[in-house]
Amino acid sequence: MQRFGTTKQPLSNNLNTLQKHRDITIERFNKFVQRGQFEDVNLNSALWKKRSGNAVTLKVFPVPDLKRISFEEAMKGEYKATKVGEWFGPILATFWFKVAVVIPPDFEGEEVRFEFDCSNEVMVWSTGGIPITGLTGTGGGGEGRHVDYLLTEKAVAGEIFEFYLEMACNDRDGLSGPDSPHPNPDVNFRLDIADITVRNKLGYDLMTYFKLMIMLVKDTPQEWQLNGDALYYADKVINAFRVNDERALKEAHDIAAKFFRDHQKEGRSLHQIYAVGHCHIDTAWLWPYDETKRKAGRSWSRQITFMKLNPKFTFTASQAQQYAWVEELYPTIFKDIQEFEKKGQFLPVGGTWVEMDCNLTSGESLCRQFLFGQRYFESRFGKRCTVFWLPDTFGYSSQLPQISSSAGMKYFFTQKISWNNINKFPHNTFKWAGLDNTEVLCHFPPADTYGGQCTVVDLLKSVHNYKDKAYSNKSMYSYGNGDGGGGPLYPMIERLEHLGNLEGMPATIQNCDPARFFEELDATSRDLNRWKGELYLEFHRGTYTSHGLVKKYNRKCEILLREVEFLSTLALANPHNQAPGFVYPSAELERIWKLVLLNQFHDVLPGSSLKLVYDDVIRFYEDVTLTGEKLKEKALQALMGHFSSANKTLRQAVAIINTTSWPIDATLVEVDLTQLSAGVKLHGDFTWQQLSKRGHALVYVDNLGAGSIQTFTFGNKPSNFVPIKVQQIILPSSQTNADDFVNVDEDTGFEVENNFIIAKFDKHGRLVSLLEKSTKHEAIAPDQLGNVFKLFEDIPIYFDAWDIEAYHLEKGWDADLGLATIEEAGPLRVVLFVKHPLTELSWLEQRIIITAADGLIEFENKVDWRENRICLKVEFPLNVNCDYATYETQFGYIQRPTHYNTSWDLARFEVCGHRYADLSEYGFGVALLNDSKYGYSTKGGVMRMSLLRSPKGPDDTTDMEIHQFRFALYPHKGSFLQSDVVKKAYQYNEKPIVHPLLVDPENLVEKQFFVSSAANFVLDTVKVAEDSRVAEGKGKVDIILRFYESYGGRGVARVETLFNIVEANFCNILEDLEDSVTVEEGRTLVIPFKPFQIVSVRLLVSPK
Ligand SMILES: [Zn+2]
Repeated sequence: MQRFGTTKQPLSNNLNTLQKHRDITIERFNKFVQRGQFEDVNLNSALWKKRSGNAVTLKVFPVPDLKRISFEEAMKGEYKATKVGEWFGPILATFWFKVAVVIPPDFEGEEVRFEFDCSNEVMVWSTGGIPITGLTGTGGGGEGRHVDYLLTEKAVAGEIFEFYLEMACNDRDGLSGPDSPHPNPDVNFRLDIADITVRNKLGYDLMTYFKLMIMLVKDTPQEWQLNGDALYYADKVINAFRVNDERALKEAHDIAAKFFRDHQKEGRSLHQIYAVGHCHIDTAWLWPYDETKRKAGRSWSRQITFMKLNPKFTFTASQAQQYAWVEELYPTIFKDIQEFEKKGQFLPVGGTWVEMDCNLTSGESLCRQFLFGQRYFESRFGKRCTVFWLPDTFGYSSQLPQISSSAGMKYFFTQKISWNNINKFPHNTFKWAGLDNTEVLCHFPPADTYGGQCTVVDLLKSVHNYKDKAYSNKSMYSYGNGDGGGGPLYPMIERLEHLGNLEGMPATIQNCDPARFFEELDATSRDLNRWKGELYLEFHRGTYTSHGLVKKYNRKCEILLREVEFLSTLALANPHNQAPGFVYPSAELERIWKLVLLNQFHDVLPGSSLKLVYDDVIRFYEDVTLTGEKLKEKALQALMGHFSSANKTLRQAVAIINTTSWPIDATLVEVDLTQLSAGVKLHGDFTWQQLSKRGHALVYVDNLGAGSIQTFTFGNKPSNFVPIKVQQIILPSSQTNADDFVNVDEDTGFEVENNFIIAKFDKHGRLVSLLEKSTKHEAIAPDQLGNVFKLFEDIPIYFDAWDIEAYHLEKGWDADLGLATIEEAGPLRVVLFVKHPLTELSWLEQRIIITAADGLIEFENKVDWRENRICLKVEFPLNVNCDYATYETQFGYIQRPTHYNTSWDLARFEVCGHRYADLSEYGFGVALLNDSKYGYSTKGGVMRMSLLRSPKGPDDTTDMEIHQFRFALYPHKGSFLQSDVVKKAYQYNEKPIVHPLLVDPENLVEKQFFVSSAANFVLDTVKVAEDSRVAEGKGKVDIILRFYESYGGRGVARVETLFNIVEANFCNILEDLEDSVTVEEGRTLVIPFKPFQIVSVRLLVSPK
């Protein structure tokens, strides 16, 4: 081979040195590494010394019916010959390949790799059924391409390698883009490569060097010496390189290596970047849960191969659920994880069961995410996580600092707030103070990503975008492909090494353990700023509403689980010993809790996943509901002892159970008489008794004790009962004129009056007036109508299921109206019924219900929803003046502006609230309660609740079904702080439980389990401790009581219980014992509390 430029005399005028045409030179650099055009004559031609397809034999077994099967099952398959060029599909299908490689003579002594690229995802298995490593094909833009597997470091000619491949027909990014309506089932994958190769180490290393040099030239400022040096040396590299010339390749390689060697600096830069490999795996999103199990196996096994290659490489992964899946499906990978955790390379973080949504989940659900997460990590790795890692969730509740601290984590990592689409968040490192003022140290990586690519741009951004330089010189950098898994590619790890200590770069880089990063940040930062309250994400506001059924199931399951635990604990620990032999259903509860927690993943509960994900989700919720109801019934029967009977003909009475921690003055319950003996009928005075339209007995219950069971026999007239009345009325024209859209030929309407309110409705069921009798306040704004259904065009800018944008409020109109009729007319309750057509495609049936028991107007709705990019809201213009509205959040509330003064106010045009939103002024207020909705917007006095959306991506069937939901309007005396809105909203969701009983339950009357002296101190959870001593056969039970302060006040609560308390301690969310609690008279707990404090108490009780 003749080399150029080797004549004795040099070429004239230094022709082979850098010329002054920078842009063209950079373009030349790009062409030198680019695949495709010129790849046979550029650096790509030097990547492999050898390649052979003939040495590889492939046989394939197509798994039928899109099933995912075990290795053992795959071994029973029938394998047929296949080859490169064949197509595999459809999407979601699995194929198993049996691979045989015979090393050809010319591969003798070489380091040989197997290379396989079908543009999808693959797991390599040994013939003995050991999963070895995951491969990612070119699909999805090729960003995560990693297609080779090291067969041997020193091959012997004739040697045979046999192994299996499990191919999943989806690319790393899932089945479709987030905005496409649904996956295209016709996608197939072509097998492009199945070769053995010998890598040319010089060519491979030069590729890594050279790509980095291009970045230095393109992405650092031209004024930098480093930039000029990189330009000069890169040019020299190209000029030295010759196709098919090892000597020239070595020369080119050495120039690049010398560049990096000569630019290593001594000591540290002022800014220090702590880098950690990471692989964000969405637990379900554009792929189902079952594929995530395999994604975790593929991604993590590959990262372990990198850890073996490079002992400095650190990698972090969150979500206990994914570890549990890997442990179950891939025990050998899990053993490796445990081994590399000990070496400080595989680093569990997060401490939660999944990376959950934090807007919609209840306070108790958040506690369980940490409880199950930390218990798992502790049991498998001997320690708990110290960093709460949640990079991708759509907003962060103001209770997270308190809850995560109580779960042992004082450090918090996220980056999602950088997605704000209106205001830029002002900090990267700061103290985040929660609702109760608990502080955690919070860090947002300044590169604004959890999936960094180890580029020069990312690293410069880490320094330049760091907003807290005055207070700290450290930032974290999380790199590696994510969402669909994968994690770092090996060249990323190598780039970081080359860049780590480069003279001229404004930072040094080191691999880190996130826990160590936070410890050092904590020790070295100074005078950090403080951010108080929620970290509201100014984006993805549609996720409070999308997929209404999932949100409803989540709420209902949270309530059901609370009831099961409450009743089962009483059945177990009841000192009256009415439930001998009752076993607390710990295992079943853990199983169904984990299903609920799984479905709280940050693309599932928010409503932003594919339809096939929701098929699993709904199935899991049905399982939880069915199991939960069975467990509840078991607990009730145990609790009622021999007064309970499955025999309907013997049931003559009902027990009514109030699981809340306050007494209920009066309420109405519905009793299905068909569940009782045929002899039981409503009797007595019909001026106070009523059958509902569907034939159920309405029972007026008053003075229901806190946390109590009360029996009820029919026929007892309540003491202070005032019947409710309804009449048709003629409305004054000023009130009907408010309607611009409908011709009003008659001014008729309805007036409903009870002891608390007078409500007037027009003939369409819209609220014309609502008078709160004790204050004589009118709740509806003058000349306005409440309970109005509005439709809004809902076309976001980016992500359909995720986003609702501020401009939707500019384009709204009234839904079509129906006519109301009286369905029930008292004396216990009045029901008005109306069916609105809404649009040509959708209708809504509403029952407006007012009872004699309180001042609530309930709206029970059934909607058939068939719209396209339309949002349905209900609107209440209130006669209340306040700059802030109050919304329930986990274990407390949060206030947000009712005006758009500043861009930060405007950004919260749609906010998340749980069971209530309230607008109050001095002396009076109105609350809007709900049973399953979360999206609210309040502007001026107008409060709106978002009911349904109709996004088409990534699931074009989203919410296209029949929905049932309830909401209620509650006018109250006093401002919010003086009101009982918290209780009303709680009770609106946790209705008293009705349980049929045998005749003569006289020994069962009035069992009160809890009485709390502080109205604002709510007993939320009663459960048996996860590691209760009852399991050790000591006969005593460890019970957890969880309270929260609900109004932002302080005091001392005296909580009287029915238990025989042996020991009482405070505990954290992980149920670790803390200080002792004062107990008076063996049964009464004395508990001091602070504003919004969550207080957990662990009792050891003796059931006897
Ligand atoms: Zn995510």
